Amino acid sequence: MVVKINKDKCDRNRMCVIVSACPIGAIKQRKIGPILADYPEIDEEKCTECGICIKECPHDTVYKE
Ligand code: SF4
Repeated sequence: MVVKINKDKCDRNRMCVIVSACPIGAIKQRKIGPILADYPEIDEEKCTECGICIKECPHDTVYKE
């Protein structure tokens, strides 16, 4: 299993809550403006599949596959 982002649901908010929610810093997001950012990226090598980010995302973008 890996943890993934559904880009169709993500609004690319630069204050994305899952970036800070990950306890081991496995999620990065490049800021590209005052409001927008790139899609958050989950480092599959670091991710422990704890599922915290799945619960934290208000748009239900994060899932396990
Ligand atoms: S599942 Fe856990 S370790 Fe993996 S990216 Fe989400 S919060 Fe971080």
